[in-house]
Amino acid sequence: MQTDVIIIGAGAAGLSAAKELSKQGISFIVVEASHRIGGRAYSEEIAPDVWFDLGCAYLDAGPEAKNHIDESNPFVDFAKNQGAVIEEYRYDAHYNYNGRPLDENEVKAQEQYYQECEEAIRSSVESGDDCAISEIIDLENPFATPYIDMMAVTAPKDLDEASAADFFHKVEEHISFNTLRGYGNLVAQWGSDVRVSLNTKVESVDWSEKDVHVKTVKGSMRARCLISTVSNGILAARHIHFKPRLPDWKMQAIEGLPMGAENKIGVHFTKDVFGPDASGYYQSWSSAAHGAYIDVNLLSTNVVSVFMGGRFSIWMEQQGQQAAHEFAVDHIAELFGNDIRQSVGRSIVTAWVTDPWALGSYACALPGQFHQRESLPLAIDNKLFFAGEATARANGTCHGAYWSGIRAAREVAEVLN
Ligand SMILES: Cc1cc2nc3c(=O)[nH]c(=O)nc-3n(C[C@H](O)[C@H](O)[C@H](O)COP(=O)(O)OP(=O)(O)OC[C@H]3O[C@@H](n4cnc5c(N)ncnc54)[C@H](O)[C@@H]3O)c2cc1C
Repeated sequence: MQTDVIIIGAGAAGLSAAKELSKQGISFIVVEASHRIGGRAYSEEIAPDVWFDLGCAYLDAGPEAKNHIDESNPFVDFAKNQGAVIEEYRYDAHYNYNGRPLDENEVKAQEQYYQECEEAIRSSVESGDDCAISEIIDLENPFATPYIDMMAVTAPKDLDEASAADFFHKVEEHISFNTLRGYGNLVAQWGSDVRVSLNTKVESVDWSEKDVHVKTVKGSMRARCLISTVSNGILAARHIHFKPRLPDWKMQAIEGLPMGAENKIGVHFTKDVFGPDASGYYQSWSSAAHGAYIDVNLLSTNVVSVFMGGRFSIWMEQQGQQAAHEFAVDHIAELFGNDIRQSVGRSIVTAWVTDPWALGSYACALPGQFHQRESLPLAIDNKLFFAGEATARANGTCHGAYWSGIRAAREVAEVLN
């Protein structure tokens, strides 16, 4: 089979690349290993007509979208045009220690510590360093534990493995939305007009000749160019065999930006056990157990999302679904009392680190490796092009992945036209 471009992966990046190539009149084939499109944008029904996002859930948008188009979020307009229920995230934050809310003075001390951490990161990065975040912040502070838990989800790595510069340069998302039917469903709906060959895992890419020769589990195909949108986890694990192998500079960029671990447990309750004004963001920690970062009852769906990050998240993935479910329910009971246990419905536990098509949640620079963000998106030999969240300005996001696909498709168009 012969075409202009082969796109590997039908997540947000692969689908947007396909749509852009279509606009430019360039022929392409999208090959996707999984049985579905969307990749890390994926919603499952946790209760009848109640949706839980296993991957992206928050439609973020940057504050300067007018200056940087690649920070705007096209899925917000798509959702609005589809008449989807979409709500701005404007919930309060709550902090609970040893089963009780922090008092006013404790909240002030906690907020001050979080600000000091941000300031320490800023001044270290502005002085030209790129150390591990754990080397910069005060780890002895009483509020270090919740800060570390929260950052392990956001980074998503433990702070000794997270580059301060990478964190500092993350695009700041000022506005965030949730959509009732799920971000994953939205992406799947938006991408449904793209023709994709599903269950078509790419095994090897031979780029030694003029054309690129791609071998999949369903046969071989040739194209002038290739756009890879697979995660850095897949590339680092060499699940796709490149011949000749990718140059050292590209492998160093992939290995300097390994996948982090963020997992979630969605717990549905058969009724509203939280009470009025309880919706929002909670951080719960204690002297006895690992803390959690929790979103309660957004959009009045009676669903609680419990987030875990870093090594703890990897460990919990190894413990299995029941252990993760119990961890989540225990934390929710700590916030709302033991009676909530009687109304626990179904739960969904993610396992992104062992997900065969992602091998992690999203990429995060190792200390000293932030500069690899520049190299990662670069094309090779005008034949191999790279998109996907890790290559985006708004890395680690779905809209970032979208814009990376557009960027890669335009690079290809320049070569082919
Ligand atoms: C737990 C979690 C929470 C998140 N929360 C948010 C959030 O709230 N907001 C936000 O904006 N972003 C969030 N993200 C990030 C967002 O989901 C991703 O950045 C985005 O979906 C990645 O899109 P992508 O196209 O780059 O990669 P993917 O969606 O991973 O697409 C790559 C595709 O390649 C396919 N593939 C892999 N190997 C092969 C192969 N050998 N052959 C063929 N196909 C292959 C995969 O199956 C996959 O479909 C979250 C991610 C996770 C995991």
